[in-house]
Amino acid sequence: MANIVFSNVTKRYGNTLAVDDASFTVNDNEFFCFFGPPLSGKSTILRLVLGLETPDTGEILIGGRPVNTVSPAERNVAMVFQNLALFPHMSARDNVRFPLVERRVAEAEIEKRVADVASKLHIGHILHKPPAQLSGGERQRVAIARALVRDPAAYLMDDPISALDARLREETRVELKRIQRELGKTLIYVTHDQEEAMSVADRIAILENGKIRQIGAPTEIYDRPASTYVARLLGSPMMNILKSVRGEGVVEAAEGTIRIADKAAPADAVEIGLRPEDIKVRPWLDEGAARSDGGVGRPARVFEVEPLGGYTVVTLAAGQARLRALLRGQPDIRPEAMVAISCDPSRVHYFGQSGGALAR
Ligand code: ADP
Repeated sequence: MANIVFSNVTKRYGNTLAVDDASFTVNDNEFFCFFGPPLSGKSTILRLVLGLETPDTGEILIGGRPVNTVSPAERNVAMVFQNLALFPHMSARDNVRFPLVERRVAEAEIEKRVADVASKLHIGHILHKPPAQLSGGERQRVAIARALVRDPAAYLMDDPISALDARLREETRVELKRIQRELGKTLIYVTHDQEEAMSVADRIAILENGKIRQIGAPTEIYDRPASTYVARLLGSPMMNILKSVRGEGVVEAAEGTIRIADKAAPADAVEIGLRPEDIKVRPWLDEGAARSDGGVGRPARVFEVEPLGGYTVVTLAAGQARLRALLRGQPDIRPEAMVAISCDPSRVHYFGQSGGALAR
């Protein structure tokens, strides 16, 4: 068992609350991601797991064992990519062997473990090469192999691929996800890239100023963000969040931006959230057509169009607000055109006074 539990853990640096009363459980074999803006406490959580920091209050358990007073070396968790730089004068094989040689593991055992990890990471055929003859991706796999050859109970990665260019990043995250699944190990992963967090994680914990704001599967958090803060963090373009006024069975956003007939709208909603992909955009015919639409199709002016190939982002000036809609393909929409916008009531997110999500 290599689950990792934080129970009301707090860590301060002087007056800074780096981690504020954090409680969570990372399950055995789980790909668990911490996501939040810079300085929200992600790295501090990793350092607490590794044992490079001790909590001021609260308890940390690894595999059921309290580890607050256990040294990093005895925790059996490995940081991958902390030192991606391989030893240049050693072959890939000697790089992978290194942690075991250093720990004076018997030769037969070293051979067995290296063969095992090499087959899992598909690097058997390149073990004889020096790092200089490997591609970037191969070097990363050798570095992962070097961390895993120790057979840690869990491994940690701190924004491991942020330095790579966009294409290699996409490839590497697919690779990481597959490796983690095949290895069947607990992985705690830190990133500040929302798309990366969504794509790799089994579950994500969203951080704000050292506080965990929501934990859940990526789609769960995307579909049901607990607050406007979380709603704005996941999704690109960002969720449209508008002040709302509630009438008789109708919610109206930001002075005539959009009207939604929703009898189930919570009475205490002060803001509504509309995902760009949930906004429907049609040609504007006339007032009559809008009315026959149930009064939900509102006029908006196309402000800008960004064709991105597979989809198009349209920025709309509607009432007093700007909205972004995400449309499939390359619709024939031009700046300054009038369109009718609407949204299925079941897709509307409602938020209360303090930004917390409200149930409909
Ligand atoms: P993240 O990884 O999300 O960028 P960190 O965990 O590095 O966030 O930082 C959380 C907060 O703790 C920040 O306000 C940061 O300035 C502070 N902090 C982190 N490490 C130290 C340190 N060694 N000394 C003082 N303050 C620190």
